[in-house]
Amino acid sequence: METIQRGNVTVHYSGDSRHIAERLVEITEKTYPVLKTYFNAAHDLKLVIYWADRQDWSAVPPNRHRTRYGGPHMTQGENHTHYVILPAANVDRPDSLVAVIAPLLDLTELTPDETRNLKVWLGLGADAGDRRLGDYLASSDFYVDLLVDIIHVHEVMHDFCYEFGIPENHSRAGKGIAWWVFEGLAQWSVLWVNREIGKEDWADAHDLLYRWMYRTGRKRPGNLGPLQYKDYAWFHGAVIEMAHQLEARYGKDYGPKVLTLILRDIQGKDYLPDTEMVKLFSEAAGEDLGAWFKQNWGIE
Ligand SMILES: [Zn+2]
Repeated sequence: METIQRGNVTVHYSGDSRHIAERLVEITEKTYPVLKTYFNAAHDLKLVIYWADRQDWSAVPPNRHRTRYGGPHMTQGENHTHYVILPAANVDRPDSLVAVIAPLLDLTELTPDETRNLKVWLGLGADAGDRRLGDYLASSDFYVDLLVDIIHVHEVMHDFCYEFGIPENHSRAGKGIAWWVFEGLAQWSVLWVNREIGKEDWADAHDLLYRWMYRTGRKRPGNLGPLQYKDYAWFHGAVIEMAHQLEARYGKDYGPKVLTLILRDIQGKDYLPDTEMVKLFSEAAGEDLGAWFKQNWGIE
């Protein structure tokens, strides 16, 4: 693999991917100040990014996701160093992402307005045909855009959470941790970051793409909501649908407000259970959301 290194960011990349490595450095450098503000963080993270194809996948840091080529993930090292591992979708398309994209190819789940907006947000132009939209969503270009502008930001948010006080606890059996919040914050933060760095179109596109995924995937048995799902990717669509509804009611600064309250209350604890999270979401909203969470999402 080739390597580029700038400041706190190192990218190891496969094949002819230098241009993508540069994009990864750039988005990371823009994302850091936004997340540092949210976390009131005193220092930067050191980030090592792998943009690895199938052949190089075995060289990425050991992790439970490593066995199968393609699943984007992050992992932690020593001395404030974190790793983000992404498949080199321009070189070798990963099967796991094909499954993520598949629900996005059913245009019947979008209204005509949404279809038109999406074409604009994705830079295809309002007059682009549906065929053009479908071709783009199935192309390597879209896989790369999705990985760099959405999934990478999601992983960097995980890194900030782990570094600054919101640890991963989902594997601790028998504890009532709110896993939907840990993944929800990561996915929701993609909207916050893209808005703050002037990529409003990508924020809007991300919001709609994941809500589209939610709508389509809802038809599959087992996909009930953020607590019960068959498809792990679809679960991220569910948390974005939830975030979308909350933002519609309480505004776009509602998410960061919730994060601030979580950081306040999780201090000295390993995790917060659903009941505590619902209280914090209610506090940020200024009204009791207990019934809303229970009825719409099965969370209490
Ligand atoms: Zn995640």
